[in-house]
Amino acid sequence: MSTRAGVLITGTEVLSGIIADRNGPWLSERLREIGVDAAHIVIVGDRSEDMLAALRFMAAERLDLVVTSGGLGPTADDLTAEIVGRFCGREMVLDPALEERIAEILAPMLARWPGLDPETIRHSNRKQAVIPAGATVLDPVGTAPGLIVTAAQGDGPTVVVLPGPPRELKPMWEMAVRTEAFRAATAGATTYRTRILRLFGIPESAIADTLRAASDAAVDLDALEVTTCLRRGEIEIATRYEPAAEPVYDAFVDFVRGRHADTLFSEDGSTIDEQVAALLRGRTIAVAESCTGGLMAARLTERPGSSAYFKGGLVVYSNQAKVALAGVDPDVIERCGAVSTEVAEALADGAIERLDADLGVGITGIAGPGGATEGKPVGLVCFTVHERDGERITRSVNLPGGRADVRDRATVVAMHLVRRLLLGSPLPEAGAMRA
Ligand code: ATP
Ligand code: MG
Repeated sequence: MSTRAGVLITGTEVLSGIIADRNGPWLSERLREIGVDAAHIVIVGDRSEDMLAALRFMAAERLDLVVTSGGLGPTADDLTAEIVGRFCGREMVLDPALEERIAEILAPMLARWPGLDPETIRHSNRKQAVIPAGATVLDPVGTAPGLIVTAAQGDGPTVVVLPGPPRELKPMWEMAVRTEAFRAATAGATTYRTRILRLFGIPESAIADTLRAASDAAVDLDALEVTTCLRRGEIEIATRYEPAAEPVYDAFVDFVRGRHADTLFSEDGSTIDEQVAALLRGRTIAVAESCTGGLMAARLTERPGSSAYFKGGLVVYSNQAKVALAGVDPDVIERCGAVSTEVAEALADGAIERLDADLGVGITGIAGPGGATEGKPVGLVCFTVHERDGERITRSVNLPGGRADVRDRATVVAMHLVRRLLLGSPLPEAGAMRA
């Protein structure tokens, strides 16, 4: 049996949706990396009964490890340490060394806020030094210490208690995995490798077919744990396997490559954005975009170091802006319409000229829900990628989904067109860009 874990996210603000949970997915990925299966992520509000019920559920599932997030602060609604202590059958005791440590951390803060009453602060933070007996203490990143608590009776999951703010939780997780208590709880974890393939331009059902065919062709898929998902218009195939199954994985990749050579764009897990950055090799790129309203420019600035190749973007939403900022000929807009391959080409050229870039990207489309005209449905987006004095690719594509989908997906298509141009590779089938 592999080691199984549960993640318990606490916080009424997370439960109610005011704040999106960032810790659950992050912890789940970290657990997976160290060969622990995350079986459940449970979110509860700041209520002791609900927290206890969730912990009991996880114990009943016979999980080896539970990681909690949140509720470690000094205020009365921060209950986690006490609840976990109760759950593990541990008495709550004051840890004087920890109290001293917290006082040390608070001293500079008290100096900055002279109005605060030191006694009140000291009292509320004594609360944070009251911990389940026998717990392993993780040094505070903010003011709250983390904890690792084992069951008093030796039966039940080990609980790793972490603070809610992600910037505190992440470094404290690194501390937690190095402790003896953590190692003991995860001793049975298997070492896995995870590899990722990415494809663009085929439906998920085609991958399902390929998996069946691979199995028929005697690729031992039972030795691999294959997960496919559609993410931002691309298919991601994540495979986890024990090191001994490496040859099986290699055979699987060969099989996928054999069937999807034209759409498999990444075998090493690299993203399209990383690939484009690498392929530019010193060349610069600029954008003039209409329906994506700056999303393409934002995407090109996401990576650290993007200033080496990204010159900037023109957001040319109105016709007037297309003319004034990107130098599009108003007659072309009049004759062909603002959403046309001609205008996309003029935008790409405008980006090159106005921003003195080596490559230009032009994007114009109808993100909807209104705005469709005869022969130009919602979701129609025209793209041009042009290298100064070189290759040009122009495509018009019908993208599915609502406004947000069309806008986001348009940036994905544009990135793939840039990659195609930089590789000088032949264009895929007409349908392929429609993913
Ligand atoms: P504090 O000492 O700051 O109160 P805490 O451990 O008690 O820390 P919480 O009170 O649960 O943590 O959360 C504090 C803040 O941290 C939240 O208001 C929120 O901004 C952020 N936070 C908490 N949990 C999450 C989460 N799961 N995902 C993203 N942010 C979170
Ligand atoms: Mg709190």
